[in-house]
Amino acid sequence: MDGVTGSELFKARQSLTYDDIIILPGHIDFGVQDVSLKTKLTREIELSYPFTSSPMDTVTEAEMAIHLALLGGLGFVHYNNSIEEQSEIIRVVKRFENGFITDPKVLGPDQTVSDIHAIREKHGFSGIPITDTGDLAGKVVGIVTNRDIDFETDLDRPLREVMTTDLVTAPKGVTLIEANQIIRESKKGKLPILDEQGRLCALVSRHDLLKNRDYPDAVKSNTKQLMVGAALSTRTDDRERLEALVDAGVDVIVIDSAQGDSTFQYEMIKHAKAAFPDLQVIGGNVVTQNQCANLIRAGADAIRIGMGPGSICITQETMAVGRGQAAAVYHCALHCNEQGVPIIADGGISDIGDIVKAIAFGASTVMMGSMFAGTSESPGEYYYQNGVRLKRYRGMASIEAMEAGGGKRYFVEQKSVRVAQGVSGYVVDKGSVMSLVPYLAQGLRHSFQDMGVIDMAQLHERLYNDSLHFELRSHSAQTEGGIHGLYSYERPNYGQRETPSEPRRG
Ligand code: GDP
Ligand code: GDP
Ligand code: 5GP
Repeated sequence: MDGVTGSELFKARQSLTYDDIIILPGHIDFGVQDVSLKTKLTREIELSYPFTSSPMDTVTEAEMAIHLALLGGLGFVHYNNSIEEQSEIIRVVKRFENGFITDPKVLGPDQTVSDIHAIREKHGFSGIPITDTGDLAGKVVGIVTNRDIDFETDLDRPLREVMTTDLVTAPKGVTLIEANQIIRESKKGKLPILDEQGRLCALVSRHDLLKNRDYPDAVKSNTKQLMVGAALSTRTDDRERLEALVDAGVDVIVIDSAQGDSTFQYEMIKHAKAAFPDLQVIGGNVVTQNQCANLIRAGADAIRIGMGPGSICITQETMAVGRGQAAAVYHCALHCNEQGVPIIADGGISDIGDIVKAIAFGASTVMMGSMFAGTSESPGEYYYQNGVRLKRYRGMASIEAMEAGGGKRYFVEQKSVRVAQGVSGYVVDKGSVMSLVPYLAQGLRHSFQDMGVIDMAQLHERLYNDSLHFELRSHSAQTEGGIHGLYSYERPNYGQRETPSEPRRG
């Protein structure tokens, strides 16, 4: 046999990581486009691609979560903010695309054009049904859309004078497919759904049909809203945060802890699963099989693996506790996959090859911070240093982030003495995730083809039936595998690819 199997590779119990290992190629009998990258994030949630973004305040807020979900991944919104701020971010993501909009914004006939502008400012849309009472309990008397007020200069003009009254509507009880058909045929932008008394039950928007057409890989719930995750801590007072996040429509939460094998975390998982049985709950971070077993026993629907591999992370240096990420992923996945609980390989992903290796060692998805930091969808402004366009990226346990309210995942109780487990720094502009994610996905497809596996299930099957083979890389093999021997070279930057058209908001 050429190479070694996964079990032989990790038998020596060394803290190996991605760079230490190479995967041997397999036989190709299919095309790149035949590769499917569909995978499980948790017991219940399926993603089109195995990409998730870290809950960090320089990585994931609404823009990142919307774009990742549209492209087939999922974003986890950070909690270095107030409960209200975090829940509002979730609401923004959930409002972005819909099937039936069950709580549409409405106004009354006596309200004015300026009220429509105010809604557009805040929410990004301006197709507003008008009811006689100005709320959802009233009868629908008209609708105001962009075209009714495009050229209106009198902001105080009452809506009764500008609204359209010959409405195409549908009765309560229509299916989404029927509603969509009416929209296609009537060519209207909005379809109000009314009950027998003429009251508004829901609204369907034409633009959502277009979004559905343009983003076939989007990860959506059965309400056709984009899926989104959020992080919270193990602290008892974060139960209030949990409630607010669920109320805002969050699909999955990750309990964010640098060392997740704690009584506090078991209590939080048990509480979340008991209070919200439909909510998917991710536990972590852990790096050993025992720790995984404990979190699965507490009820976790997925486990987040990684202690110290993050690019901004100094945990292994300061605490001397952690594990090489490849070893952590392999050993934890061995246990979790047997239990039907997917794992997320979190941190230390710096290129497509690392994603491939994480998955080849048993992970179902990866979580990335630095990969997505510096894109136009990450929070923060760009600025120039020596002619290079940069964005801030910082560890959530960096002094800077802790001062801004972080440190919750590190049991930081005492404010006077802080031991940082992360640093803050800058990353270069990577362009938009709209081009980065398709690039990662296509790279991954090529790599699957090289390994001779057509999908995630086959890859894991080969890992566990010992037909996927690996080798350790010597130091010189690693040098050989990198660019070498050139006087100078140019490496294509992520941002240089063509960007597909931006999704339209509102
Ligand atoms: P599935 O059948 O739930 O797997 O999902 P499809 O994407 O096939 O959607 C079923 C129906 O809902 C089709 O008529 C779609 O066009 C429509 N649909 C999907 N997403 C949306 C959306 O976001 N808004 C609206 N209005 N319709 C949608
Ligand atoms: P508009 O023509 O400016 O109203 O905007 P579109 O209809 O083109 O797009 C509105 C987007 O916002 C769609 O994706 C809707 O699903 C979403 N949305 C979420 N909540 C609401 C709401 O209460 N009213 C409207 N009109 N759209 C909403
Ligand atoms: P990256 O993708 O940049 O290599 O790593 C991102 C991951 O690092 C995050 O998902 C999170 O698990 C971890 N992380 C974020 N902030 C810190 C920090 O300050 N210290 C440590 N030890 N890990 C961090």
